[in-house]
Amino acid sequence: MTTDDNLEQEKNIQNDDSVRKSRRTFLKLGVAGAGIAAAAVSGVKIVKKMEGTPLDHFPLAINDDYKPIDQRNQINVFGKSKVLNDKHPERNRAFNEQLKKENPQGFKEFNFYKDNKTFMSGPYRDTPGFSQLELALAHGGFSSARQQLGGGGMEGPKHPNSVSHWRQDMLVENKYQFASPQEANLAIKSAARTFGALRCGITKRDKRWDYNPMYNSHTDQVLTWEKDFPFEPKTVIVIMVDMDYHAMAAAPSWLVDATTGNAYANAIKIAGQLNVFLQRLGYHAIASMNDVGINAPYAIAAGLGEGARNGQVITPEHGPRVRISKIYTDFDFVEYDKPRDFGVASFCKNCKRCADSCPSQAITHGDPSWGPDYSSDPDYTWHASHVILKFHNDAKKCNKFWIDNDGSCANCIAACPYNKPDFWHHRLVDAGNVISPGPVHSFMREMDILFGYGKVSDPDRVKKFWKLGKEV
Ligand code: SF4
Ligand code: SF4
Repeated sequence: MTTDDNLEQEKNIQNDDSVRKSRRTFLKLGVAGAGIAAAAVSGVKIVKKMEGTPLDHFPLAINDDYKPIDQRNQINVFGKSKVLNDKHPERNRAFNEQLKKENPQGFKEFNFYKDNKTFMSGPYRDTPGFSQLELALAHGGFSSARQQLGGGGMEGPKHPNSVSHWRQDMLVENKYQFASPQEANLAIKSAARTFGALRCGITKRDKRWDYNPMYNSHTDQVLTWEKDFPFEPKTVIVIMVDMDYHAMAAAPSWLVDATTGNAYANAIKIAGQLNVFLQRLGYHAIASMNDVGINAPYAIAAGLGEGARNGQVITPEHGPRVRISKIYTDFDFVEYDKPRDFGVASFCKNCKRCADSCPSQAITHGDPSWGPDYSSDPDYTWHASHVILKFHNDAKKCNKFWIDNDGSCANCIAACPYNKPDFWHHRLVDAGNVISPGPVHSFMREMDILFGYGKVSDPDRVKKFWKLGKEV
């Protein structure tokens, strides 16, 4: 975004009440701002700090009795399988009882399987961002990911016509020997960069983050690591790609689906290419999207970002505006990256902009916990883990909003102060955040509102998006 764009944005929003309030708070926080400016001149040291402090342990507390998650309890997998829905009518029943309790007047029966089938099918609407133009772009955005997944879906492991198949038919006998683990780390990341990765991190395979058993909701097949997986994985290479800032800023709209689908396509493509790269070096490998294991903890373990209130991984450069894929391999002569702390967890405690912007109230305003407050009802909390100290959200409510809205939402990405284009004042404030957290957190949050960032359901954003073609 250019300086002119920012000035125009500021002019457009100057009459907004929330912005006026924010400006007052911003001025009150002027002392903190001066502190940031003074601190920011220390240059390299601060840049290093913004990249995060390496940790020797996984940053979130985990109970010793942690059990891997059964993929049948993953919300998207459950939503796509008639077999699972027929087997667990109590899950749909408990959800509907809760919806009725919360909104007796507006209650409409919801079924995870039947309603998920209607997703992104139209009709077009008068609401900005939901015309034929945006829906066509959304389908275009997803088309490449669908082709690469062979109709198997993001969550379906071992689909034979997909780049995330489990065949090892590119494997060569000779095992390439790297001179050192550091050289191997750099070579893999150089390959990832060549194929288009925004970031790449390498971590040990951790059975806690792998689904067990795995489940393909398209074939209703249960898969085990022991009998079905083609090798014993030792390492997971995590890939990040970004999504378009301007499409995300138009959340919630079909523009979000366009950039999401496009990012999935890029992420799968890169994982597939690295899979072949590893096999041609003589090592077993498979490419994985949302199947096989959970992306977020692997990305955190690989030092690519921190877990946040909105349930996503926040990166220093793009905030939560990223998609993740991964490669499992038995190659292990490699230097592993470390998780990093760059201040997100403490920032999230006070910020809550994602929770304020969530139309389905799926995101908690509370503190990190060992599980959702409604854990007393297992029929309602079948998808929730209760063994990690983190922000626990209700993915079922999010899923229902997507179906009701007939398009994915992403307000929690658009509203997040870490999501923004690369611009000097963001870097300045980000620097302050890591140097002296606390009052500076409020400064960063208010400055964001002042500059017009993080506003959701803004029709002007859709208009602006369709003018960006002049830049190409
Ligand atoms: S995508 Fe939308 S509905 Fe879902 S958690 Fe984020 S803000 Fe809430
Ligand atoms: S909006 Fe605020 S609370 Fe939510 S994830 Fe981003 S930084 Fe954390």
